[in-house]
Amino acid sequence: METFPFKKVLIANRGEIAVRVIRACREMGIIPVAVFSDADKKALHVRLAEEAYPLGASSPSESYLNIEKILNIAKKCRAEALHPGYGFLAENPELVKHCEKEGIHFIGPSSRVVKIMGKKTASRAAMLNAGIPIVPGTIEPLLDEKELVYQAEKIGFPVLLKATSGGGGKGLRLVNRKSELISSLKLVRSEAMSSFNDESVYMEKYIEEPHHIEIQILADHFGRVIHLGERECSIQRRYQKVLEETPSPFLDEDTRQKMGQIAVRAAQSVEYRNAGTVEFVVDKNKNFYFLEMNTRLQVEHPVTEMVTGIDLVKCQIEIAAGLPLRCSQEEVRPRGSSLQCRIHAEDPDLDFMPSPGEIIHLRPPSGGLGIRNDTGIYEGFIVPLEYDPLLSKLISWGETREEAILRMLRALSEYQIYGIKTTIPFFKRILHHPKFFKGDYNTHFIADLEKEMDMNGKQDTQIAILAAGVKTYVDNRSEMKQSRRKLSQWKLRGRSDGFSNRF
Ligand code: ADP
Ligand code: ADP
Ligand code: MG
Repeated sequence: METFPFKKVLIANRGEIAVRVIRACREMGIIPVAVFSDADKKALHVRLAEEAYPLGASSPSESYLNIEKILNIAKKCRAEALHPGYGFLAENPELVKHCEKEGIHFIGPSSRVVKIMGKKTASRAAMLNAGIPIVPGTIEPLLDEKELVYQAEKIGFPVLLKATSGGGGKGLRLVNRKSELISSLKLVRSEAMSSFNDESVYMEKYIEEPHHIEIQILADHFGRVIHLGERECSIQRRYQKVLEETPSPFLDEDTRQKMGQIAVRAAQSVEYRNAGTVEFVVDKNKNFYFLEMNTRLQVEHPVTEMVTGIDLVKCQIEIAAGLPLRCSQEEVRPRGSSLQCRIHAEDPDLDFMPSPGEIIHLRPPSGGLGIRNDTGIYEGFIVPLEYDPLLSKLISWGETREEAILRMLRALSEYQIYGIKTTIPFFKRILHHPKFFKGDYNTHFIADLEKEMDMNGKQDTQIAILAAGVKTYVDNRSEMKQSRRKLSQWKLRGRSDGFSNRF
């Protein structure tokens, strides 16, 4: 067997994605090196890696976001390459620059490309130049309130105000009328400043009844770029993906091919290399517009792997090592249908309040054909408060979409996580919904479902109160009061507090 160019890869991340990369390394005969914060001393990625080095205090800035500490470890352990996972430093051009300077292979594109794609305005300008259709709106950040009003009237309401450096669904605001413009701008600017340390904001036309559909691409150092089809990511909450699937039940073959070709052209135009995702927003008439490009592995990459059989992490490592792509466009033949549920430590009955703590009992779906569970947890693990609440990604595959959905429901019904609240019950509601089953949904699906649940919930409570009498009523009220108190404490602390790294 030929020895692979890298002997050691440092994984600058945690949780399920660190575990995912460790698995690929091990299968390739590469030694995976983990890093961990104080909160993660007993985390699964630390247990699975060959070597693991401490980063110190748990706050992201002192651990997984600390370039200096991570690079020192990479040099000390003589890792030839660094895999950033997603989130944290994955799209930080400074880290890439440092790696380039130190001669460590960054498993991702060049710092130049990471920088262009990291700013939504810069990437829109680059795509416009390359003849890629972008969402109508401004290319430059908005200067002042006068320009804000002028542009909104020119573009036409509704419009979206977007933080130039935004990510993870933050720094976005829908504005329906002129009277809301100035106050919305102030809100987005302050969120952008606190989350991204950059208060610049630009404007896009809000595409109505939108779909988020993205194309996975792979590009090597020899100028070859291929696409691996699409992922439908329109099941979103607060502009963040919750459930993803491929193929999209909304696309036709002609649009799919066109989007694939445009995504390849977008990547070629910036001399992209690595795995990457070109995100599009698609309107009800299947017109599609470039939204942004994510220059890293995506949280939802497994659904593409399930239908193509291509291991995207291995491809990323091979590309970084200077190897040519393993397959041509013609050889990519997706088969069947795949779904992914992002299972979070959150309480769906309490406005998705984070629910960190100890997992006292865990029984993951015990297998069966077509089920994959990418996770970083185990029984006894304490889910830290400091990071993204993603516990596990449950992925199903089926010959048909219907089979993939039924299989997912079967796996969800087997899944037991006790000790903390999770979003498992919420996924059952989504998957049972007739509109989801028909594939008849857009990005408003969850907001509509929550309205439905609110209405049903109120009716249920009233019936229960009438039936069970005063005692239950009093008990319920005190329980509800307690829940409300917890919720308001959480809101006071700020929803985003401690969860600034939502991917
Ligand atoms: P995915 O599809 O992988 O879930 P998204 O398309 O939702 O990712 O994009 C989220 C992007 O925002 C990611 O690149 C993530 O790294 C980035 N991100 C999330 N939160 C923050 C943050 N607080 N600061 C900077 N970037 C962030
Ligand atoms: P982030 O970097 O936070 O992922 P995106 O620009 O990718 O930001 O947008 C996040 C989500 O917001 C999209 O997936 C989509 O649902 C919605 N969105 C963004 N821009 C538009 C738009 N112009 N029209 C309609 N929906 C949009
Ligand atoms: Mg996005």
